[in-house]
Amino acid sequence: MGEHEPATAKEPIATFPCPSCGGQMQFDTASQTLKCRYCGSEKPIEGRTGGDEPTEYELDFTDEDNDALKDWGTEQQVIKCGNCGGEMLLPAGQTAAVCGFCGSPKVLPQGNPGSIRPESVIPFHISKEQATASFNAWRKKRWFIPNAFKKQSVSSNLNGIYVPFWTFDSETTSSYSAEVGVYHYRTETRTRVVNGKTETYTVQVRYTVWHWTSGTHEHFFNDVLIPASGQYDGALLRKLNDYRLEQLAPYKPEYLSGFIAERYSVSLKDGWREAKSRIDGELNGEIRHRIGGDEIRHLSIDTTYYDQTYKHILLPVWNANYRYNNKTYRYMVNGETGSVSGRVPRSPWKITFFVLACLAVAGVVAYLYAQSQT
Ligand SMILES: [Zn+2]
Ligand SMILES: [Zn+2]
Repeated sequence: MGEHEPATAKEPIATFPCPSCGGQMQFDTASQTLKCRYCGSEKPIEGRTGGDEPTEYELDFTDEDNDALKDWGTEQQVIKCGNCGGEMLLPAGQTAAVCGFCGSPKVLPQGNPGSIRPESVIPFHISKEQATASFNAWRKKRWFIPNAFKKQSVSSNLNGIYVPFWTFDSETTSSYSAEVGVYHYRTETRTRVVNGKTETYTVQVRYTVWHWTSGTHEHFFNDVLIPASGQYDGALLRKLNDYRLEQLAPYKPEYLSGFIAERYSVSLKDGWREAKSRIDGELNGEIRHRIGGDEIRHLSIDTTYYDQTYKHILLPVWNANYRYNNKTYRYMVNGETGSVSGRVPRSPWKITFFVLACLAVAGVVAYLYAQSQT
């Protein structure tokens, strides 16, 4: 198959055919059902309101080789972008014309290498139009943007992408020991010579009394969230962290219809390593707080982790780019809450003016301070 074979050569097979007309049904953000693109028929997603709790799986790194955990409910294929390396999952039979991450047409099917299926999903609640409106409201409030950019309308390419995350739960027991320093003060009498006469005076001198302490500390960590996406602009993604994880619904392949799912590129093992280092950081802070004192030294913490579980989850992101003055800018909109993070053009003139104004203010302050000292 040639690299430049047009990706839209054949009409894709409908994964969720419409009962009325046979067309492809897609997940609809407004009704939270499947909706036909052609005739508008709606079909509820079964189990949507059933309160079944997502399963937490026992942490077992061999799960990544377990085919039973790789059933996504529809046959999947991985499409890889030759430009940015992004890996997207699409139902078999569907094709992508361009990369959902960077817009490049250099996309090639890779077959199905298999990946652990998501346990739960926050479905898209924000439509493409709402995401565009959120961005337009947001961009006009940015600082230092050119006036022309503020006034003119901007047309962007948006792709709805489910971004992969791991969440981990773990029970922890830590035994710790450390030397605690507590400040004490003593009064010392000293002498000094003033105008040829010797006089005595007293000073407060601080000293530290050290003693050893030890103990055990227990903490249950719930839903430690670790991004598993490799292709994302991490800085932009990190700012979209207002997801309400209590909205997670059990995974249904219907939620993905009309959207792209990114294949996780952080393995379960690497995800847990990262979760563990975040947990360790938190435990260190908690144990230091618990020990108290004025200073701590030689702190050693030995933590046992048990009853660890994990979930693979997908969170909705509108990934977008637009062009302004022949440059491409990128932004993202949280597909659940509509919050925006992104990059905007800067007006060099406005920035220069702002810097000059700051320098002028600093100059005036320095002058007034100098005056007040004389
Ligand atoms: Zn239809
Ligand atoms: Zn790409």
